[in-house]
Amino acid sequence: MNTRFKRVVVKVGSNVLAGNDSGLDTAVMEGIVDQIAELRRYGTEVILVSSGAVASGRSVVGCDRKLDSVSARQLYSSVGQARLINRYYELFNRHGIICGQVLTTKESLSTRDHYLNQMNCMTVMIENGVIPVINENDTISVTELMFTDNDELSGMVASMMNAGCLVILSNVDGIYNGNPDNPDTEIISEIRPGDNISAYIGSEKSVFGRGGMLTKYRIASKAADEGIEVIIANGKKPGILLSVLCGLPTDAKCSRFLPSDKPISHVKKWIAHSEGFAKGRININEGAMKALAGNRASSLLPVGVVSIEGEFEKGDIVRIISPDGRQIGIGKVSMDSAGAIEAIGQKGAKPLVHYDYLYME
Ligand code: GLU
Repeated sequence: MNTRFKRVVVKVGSNVLAGNDSGLDTAVMEGIVDQIAELRRYGTEVILVSSGAVASGRSVVGCDRKLDSVSARQLYSSVGQARLINRYYELFNRHGIICGQVLTTKESLSTRDHYLNQMNCMTVMIENGVIPVINENDTISVTELMFTDNDELSGMVASMMNAGCLVILSNVDGIYNGNPDNPDTEIISEIRPGDNISAYIGSEKSVFGRGGMLTKYRIASKAADEGIEVIIANGKKPGILLSVLCGLPTDAKCSRFLPSDKPISHVKKWIAHSEGFAKGRININEGAMKALAGNRASSLLPVGVVSIEGEFEKGDIVRIISPDGRQIGIGKVSMDSAGAIEAIGQKGAKPLVHYDYLYME
């Protein structure tokens, strides 16, 4: 029995782990850990991104006064994360496997140095046989510093750690092509690079977690674009991981995003996931638009820039905006905003965003 992948990131959503009273469905957790242990026996490295801290803490901490949403998240996650990691530690330990906790924040990934540091942490864990169990540090990441949800975090981790596959376990079988209550509705089993299925996706948020299918779709498309296969499947179903990764015992229903065969460089991957840190916007003209959208590797030159919004330093991340106002790319700038404004329209000037640091969406 084998998977095609050397390294897999598995993301488990709060809705998968939510039980009735204790906040954690231990049978489901046990099933997932058993399957990860099995995958390890086949030689696949697994990184686990697990939500469930807030839901777990909420179920055991009684609170007699009304808390604002930030304080509630901080309180519940402080307790819930301890419960969650304890449980994982014990479950992995039964298989003779050690797991370790990585609590991260969006800020800890905001610069290339931070990013490499985080990558080093997970690499050294894996090299020493320790399974990283990752969650956002909900006790300190509040509002604008937060990841959109753990789907976003798992996409970043999969990209950063060069995973071959990202499995997003949720409490639905995948993306439906209509209303799930309708008997004719089916799961969209395969999404190829360039397919746009956004019309089928509802915008409801999950009950316990922060995510929803819309972010899952966005993250999955981006990861697939980077050469990572992404599978959205139902984590409540026993045996689901082995089924979707190894076809055993039978191929369960899931939505599978096929990876692009033109994988991008590591730096570009980092840039692709750095959108949330963008400091400014570069509005470009038709000529630049054509050059960037074409097949040849092109940098963004000052001659193609119409205007600059926001203040940024050299090395910051910016959004690239088309003449009709759409964001078409993200890049790392080679000069600060004052220098960029001065250079607008100049011919023969050095690139504002070099091709190596440019990610086109
Ligand atoms: N980090 C949160 C938790 O562990 C979940 C965030 C999400 O729902 O994606 O409860």
